[in-house]
Amino acid sequence: MPNDLGTKNAIIIGAGIAGLAAAIRLQLQGFIVNVYEQNSYPGGKLSDFKLGEYSFDAGPSLFTQPENIVELFDLAGENIQEYFSYIQMPVSCNYFYDDGTVVNAYSDNIALANELQLKLNEPAKNTLQFLQQSAALYNNIGTLFLTNSLHKISTLFNRAIIKAIQHTRFKFLFQSMNRLHEKQFQSAKTVQLFNRYATYNGSNPFKAPAMLTMIPHLEHNLGSFYPKGGMISITNALYRLALKKGVLFNFNKKVNNIIHKSNKVIGVIVDQENLYADLVVSNMDVYFTYKYLLNNQRLAQKVLKQERSSSAYIFYWGIKKTFSQLSLHNIFFTKDYLTEFNHLFNTGKCFTDPTVYINITAKCEPGIQAPEGKENWFVMVNAPANNGQNWDEYGAQYKKAILDKLSKLLGENIQHLIEEEQVLTPITIEQKTASYMGALYGTSSNSKMAAFMRHPNFNNQLKGLYFVGGSVHPGGGIPLCLNSAKIMADIVQKDFKK
Ligand SMILES: Cc1cc2nc3c(=O)[nH]c(=O)nc-3n(C[C@H](O)[C@H](O)[C@H](O)COP(=O)(O)OP(=O)(O)OC[C@H]3O[C@@H](n4cnc5c(N)ncnc54)[C@H](O)[C@@H]3O)c2cc1C
Repeated sequence: MPNDLGTKNAIIIGAGIAGLAAAIRLQLQGFIVNVYEQNSYPGGKLSDFKLGEYSFDAGPSLFTQPENIVELFDLAGENIQEYFSYIQMPVSCNYFYDDGTVVNAYSDNIALANELQLKLNEPAKNTLQFLQQSAALYNNIGTLFLTNSLHKISTLFNRAIIKAIQHTRFKFLFQSMNRLHEKQFQSAKTVQLFNRYATYNGSNPFKAPAMLTMIPHLEHNLGSFYPKGGMISITNALYRLALKKGVLFNFNKKVNNIIHKSNKVIGVIVDQENLYADLVVSNMDVYFTYKYLLNNQRLAQKVLKQERSSSAYIFYWGIKKTFSQLSLHNIFFTKDYLTEFNHLFNTGKCFTDPTVYINITAKCEPGIQAPEGKENWFVMVNAPANNGQNWDEYGAQYKKAILDKLSKLLGENIQHLIEEEQVLTPITIEQKTASYMGALYGTSSNSKMAAFMRHPNFNNQLKGLYFVGGSVHPGGGIPLCLNSAKIMADIVQKDFKK
């Protein structure tokens, strides 16, 4: 409700990265913004913790497109350097194959093409052409779809969008990512390397449309980055910016209901108290928003028509040794990617030769992220979304498989080097961030219509209700969550001008 001064109030449910960006944008538009967060800290999945002397980012580890963060500081008229700094990584990832082949994925495209030619016998021109195609896809189609609402008539009649749809070639829609890679690359190992990018939004490269081949553009043409202080610095920077601009935060406050009257949202209920607002933005998983906050089972079920993204099983290990062959991002591939994805999306079972990802921020900040001579290993395998599987049993199987693989390929008994351990499972991901089935990225992009099926950033029937975050348009991952806040804020601006 407008207050005495005529200023309007906005309530944001959740202080995830999208909730923080939404709060900043609405505050800058002149709203009085209150954020209600069930946890005692901001960031949602983008949070951190300490384990003995080791620091860990709890969730995301790959940082691309810093320009989305820069834009928020520019908009707020603040100097980003006072809040946040980052460096570009010369090698985006180290890849280890089961036969002992190691590939350094250099950020420089020519160096990468030469490396793939040398190690995988992949003609350099294939890699260079592929990365050019990836850039064109992103620039001509991706940016339009990822920065506009696809659910407003005005967008669908936008000339640029119509042109982009007309230029979308069948080969990017009607064949899978894997199929396109098989046609473009000579080496099965190169195919596997680029197939991996489907997991960047929790999808299956054997099913997801080749449109997703735009993802490598972000890492290889635009670069991957390391935020000083780890990924948590992104949360901290946006939280401080929001505070500076006057956003009000209410931690340990779980929103229980959204209140509406005559098809208009008028506020929320927290701790049995009615809190009124002119608009409510949910950063909570859209499925849970409908199910619990609006008690609308029909709309909740509708959301589930789209397949959930994959989840993850993570081991945070304090390792009392350093490994020179590892870098910030490392991948140890399975021998059988097709079967791994079958387990993730079809059988929902544990696969005992999983692809293993290790992130070590101590590589960028030794002695800070981990004690001198030691490393903080964030060890993750993709896991199926939670459907009631026995995660204790799966966890034991994953751990054995990971230790066997790493001990073999690194030539060390890794078990003996672990001095601290904590785990995160699909169940605890769901509990900590209210993400249905522990999905990392909301819904998958396995269908060619995924972009259009994802939930809009508003609700047509309930005026004043908006959505941001990984479970709604344009999808999961930090850059897209930040885009969701921008799209939502643009819609609010138009709605409230009316
Ligand atoms: C293990 C892991 C690895 C990942 N790796 C990457 C990566 O490398 N790069 C990348 O870009 N992305 C990655 N992601 C995805 C990325 O973390 C997410 O897409 C993004 O952080 C989601 O942000 P969000 O704002 O949508 O929501 P969340 O981070 O899920 O935040 C939602 C917030 O809402 C709060 N909330 C929910 N319900 C209520 C309620 N009723 N009342 C009050 N508060 C409530 C929650 O407590 C939470 O704080 C990863 C995710 C995970 C879990």
